[in-house]
Amino acid sequence: MKSWTVDTENIVSKHFETLTLNIYDTKSQKIQPIRRTDRTIQIYVCGITPYDSAHLGHAFTYLAFDLMIRSMNFIGMKTKYVQNVTDIDDPLFERARKSGINWQQIVNSQLDIYRADMSKLNILPPTEFVGVMENMDLIIKGIGKSIAGKSTYKIDTEFYFKTQKNIQSKLVENFSREDLIVLAKERGCDTERAGKRDPLDPILWKASKADEPSWTESFGTGRPGWHIQCICLANKFALLPLDIQGGGKDLIFPHHAMSEEQSESLGFGELALNYCHVGMVSYQGSKMSKSKGNLVFVHELLNQGISPMIIRLALMLHHWQDDWEYDSDNIEQSTKIYLTLSQNLGTKYMSKADLDIIVNLCLNNLDIPKVISFFLELKPLAHSDDGFAIDSVLQSLLGLKLGSAI
Ligand code: ZN
Repeated sequence: MKSWTVDTENIVSKHFETLTLNIYDTKSQKIQPIRRTDRTIQIYVCGITPYDSAHLGHAFTYLAFDLMIRSMNFIGMKTKYVQNVTDIDDPLFERARKSGINWQQIVNSQLDIYRADMSKLNILPPTEFVGVMENMDLIIKGIGKSIAGKSTYKIDTEFYFKTQKNIQSKLVENFSREDLIVLAKERGCDTERAGKRDPLDPILWKASKADEPSWTESFGTGRPGWHIQCICLANKFALLPLDIQGGGKDLIFPHHAMSEEQSESLGFGELALNYCHVGMVSYQGSKMSKSKGNLVFVHELLNQGISPMIIRLALMLHHWQDDWEYDSDNIEQSTKIYLTLSQNLGTKYMSKADLDIIVNLCLNNLDIPKVISFFLELKPLAHSDDGFAIDSVLQSLLGLKLGSAI
């Protein structure tokens, strides 16, 4: 699938080759190191369902992985980054039905907006940007394997995956079963369907409505469920286990917990060594969501004439794990900080000792708000002798281009 491009300098420093990124892992509930071996670091981030793309919540999520990758690349770690597009999904078809616009047209127009916004915000493109539709054969093969492996059962023409209570993911070990059922229902699982052996069992093969795409296979006519899509894509485009499986916090359950269980059942083994879940952005008192109508889109802010670097910096003022609420003060604060950084640091240099502090803040669970505070207090060097160009460091580590954006 066509990705996007960014245009910034990315330097690799030889000074930090013995270090690694330490990042909070949802499963172990602690900050742990990404193992540094000769192997390229494998990152899979669950991408958008293209029907309301590129609101600030999306941008905050993909920015977090951009920053993780920038830090790893800066210290010489090679990365492979896979991001998928869920271009077969219930909300997309509902949108098509309500709007009267063909679902494929919605996908195409939303992807154009998403790519343009990511590019303007200087968010690194994935190494592999992969769609479900273009990989349907692979996904259907995975479903067939799952059905043949007896890890499923059938209700009418649909297949469900049999979850196992005794191997419930550690991602949700602190959740009660009642909480999980509530969460699953909120997030699209048909927990109350008659005939299910467990309310949490996710659908693997779903009957298509008359206006939805469908595929006819030996096991019936329908379309794939959600979790199996990502497992098959991750297994094809990355090496398992992934070093990082990522997404927003709302993907912890059911998506990532169920993906983990289905991966093991398909014989792909452990899906990921670290799970990184990004905080939720709210607006006007609640998490941004279409149903509440409280979405703030990146392209709307850009159309108001706000510079992409100001938007990027406004997002970076929040720690990647934090939930936070957007309001226009964020843009005002970011503008002031941007102007200060540009005026004070634009063409200047920093010492190795200061660079050490910055890099360590990045490698310690990606503490970007502290990095920005440090830059605001930094006493720059005027000459390049033994120093590092601040502009290059900011571009490489933070993806932030100073100067030209106002
Ligand atoms: Zn996914």
